[in-house]
Parts: sequence; structure tokens; C-alpha cells
Amino acid sequence: MILLTGGTGFISSHTAVALAEAGLPCVLLDNLANSPESTLQGLARITGQAPLFVQGDVRDAALLDSLFARYPIQAVLHGASLKAVGEGLAQPALYHDNNVSGTVTLIRAMERAGVRRLVFSSSSTVYGNPTLQCLPESAPLVPLNPEARSKVMVEQILHDVAASHPDWRVLSLRCFNPVGAHPSGALGEAPRGQTLNLLTVMAQATAGQRPPLSIFGNDYPTPDGTGVRDYIHVMDLARGHLLALQQLLQAAAPPDARHRVLNLGRGQGISVLQLLQAFEQHTGYRVPHQWAPRREGDAACWVADVSAARQHLGWQAELGLAEMCRDAWRWQGRA
Ligand code: UDP
Repeated sequence: MILLTGGTGFISSHTAVALAEAGLPCVLLDNLANSPESTLQGLARITGQAPLFVQGDVRDAALLDSLFARYPIQAVLHGASLKAVGEGLAQPALYHDNNVSGTVTLIRAMERAGVRRLVFSSSSTVYGNPTLQCLPESAPLVPLNPEARSKVMVEQILHDVAASHPDWRVLSLRCFNPVGAHPSGALGEAPRGQTLNLLTVMAQATAGQRPPLSIFGNDYPTPDGTGVRDYIHVMDLARGHLLALQQLLQAAAPPDARHRVLNLGRGQGISVLQLLQAFEQHTGYRVPHQWAPRREGDAACWVADVSAARQHLGWQAELGLAEMCRDAWRWQGRA
């Protein structure tokens, strides 16, 4: 059985679908701070059975001990983290408590339970504002804000932990920009606050559910002046997380590979304007938009070198902009 922390969050909930399809049972843990309980109904619709869910916080050591005692957990996917750049700048202590202390609490509970297989859902934010066009995992880590720094700290802690005991096996997956939704339209990004990714904002603005999209910055050093990202369909990420968990459940790792870091992206840079054009092309709707100043803490360009994930996981993205836009739009129009 797999423990999914942040179980009702965007990446973990879609990974729960991939696990169910692979016949791997899982238990979802989430404090519902940034995702709704209705995610569980969406999961039930897709998989045909109610997911095993525990409402609680990853910083609650006693709760974690009870979960490890109650369920035959073999590995953990750790996706419980706060991820809004602006909120992290305003509340750094909250971010470090949730993201860093939460991970340490989880690791200590895993050690008490003798469970030493962990996939950490990390993020491309660790690279800061890179000068390289295509980022290998060895690129310098220059986090620009507390959220990104918390991800770097967690990766470093995991590195120390993995080196401390021969049974540890850890994969940190640096997810680039997750977008899209489950193709059924029953599951998608559903944060409680305003912390949304670009494609979700675009879909909501197009549906008239929010004001026009503000495009943050037109003077970045990119071909059209808008920010460039490596957008990846959340179902591709879910498959990547599944493969990572399956790999960890296999044989022990050599000492130099107990903690491996892998980028999960498509290796293709897409600007805000290019995504807007793709959205209009694949949905047939115009996106209302306006120009706005740069957003504090934003990088100009992140594009992944994806060769290591292909080599070590046998994974590569399969879904393109058409699926990302159509699935995001289907999810947005569900009401
Ligand atoms: N962006 C934008 N308007 C929005 C949200 C995002 O112009 O309402 C831009 C943002 O500046 C960045 C890109 O879209 O260049 C992706 O932003 P997102 O917040 O989705 O991801 P992140 O910046 O964390 O990579």
C-alpha cells in the first residue's frame, strides 16, 4: 500500500488514479487546507470505489504513527506542500513549517515504522531564474522565494537521510508546470484560494468565472517577452509518479543512487502568449486578457532537460498542448 500525502491535491489525486489503474492500493492523507473534499467524489467516479481517505496534517506525528501502524504502507508519495509563491513571500514561517517541518516529521515517522521508500514531489522552482535554455538536474539551485527555498531544503534533507541508512531509497521529482485535468472531467485542479496555475486562470477567465487574464510581464528576455514554462499534463506527471513508486518498491539501490533527482517535464518551452493561442485553437473560445506588470518572484524561463527521467525511469511525456487545453477546459465547464 502507498501513502499519498497531499492526497486530495492536484498531483497526488491524479496519481491516485494512476495507482488504482495499476492495482496499487493507497491511502490518502490531506488536511484539506488547499483542496476540497469533493476531490474524493471525483476519484470515486473515475475508479469506481471510494478512496481510502484520512483528514489530517503531515506535521501530526501521532497521526502518522497511527497510519503506519494501521495500514501495510510500503512507500510514501509526499505531495503535501504549500506552493503559492506570493503566499510564501508573505508567510515564510508558515511555508517552512508546512513544507520543511512537515517533511521532517514524515521522515521521522517513516523511520519509526521502518518504511524507507519515498517519492518527493519537488518542483522546477528550485532552479530560480536560470540562464540555461534547457535545465539538467545538475543546474545550479538558486531559489528565488521561500516556497522554492523550502523545496531545495527538503531535497537536501532527503539527501542526508538517504545517505544515513542502506534501506533508504528516495526519488525527488522536479515537476515542471502541471496543467490539464483527468480526461473524464471529474478531477482537476481545485485549490481553495486564488492560487491557480496559468491554464486554470485562462479557462476560468474564458468561462467568465473571473476577470480577464492578466499577463504578467511583456519584457522578459524571451522570444515574445512573456514568461516561458515547460507545461506538462498532470496525467503524464501521475504516470511518472507511479513509475517512480514502482521502481522504489523493487530492489535496493546502490549507495550512490539512494537519492536520485529527476526532472519531469516535456522539454519544450511555451510562452504565455503561445499557451493562450493554443487554448483558443483547441477550445474554439477567445481568452479575454490584459497586460499587467511582472509578478514578484517570477522567473523568465524554465525548460527541463528530460533525458535523465527517460534513462532512469523509462518515462517521457505523451500528452501535448491539445490534451492539456481540452482537459483543462472540460474540467472548468463541469458545473
Ligand atoms: N501568468 C500570467 N498570468 C496569470 C498566471 C500566470 O501571466 O494569471 C504567467 C506567469 O508570470 C508565468 C506563467 O504564466 O510566466 C506560469 O505561471 P504559473 O503561476 O502557472 O506557474 P509558475 O510561475 O509557478 O511557473
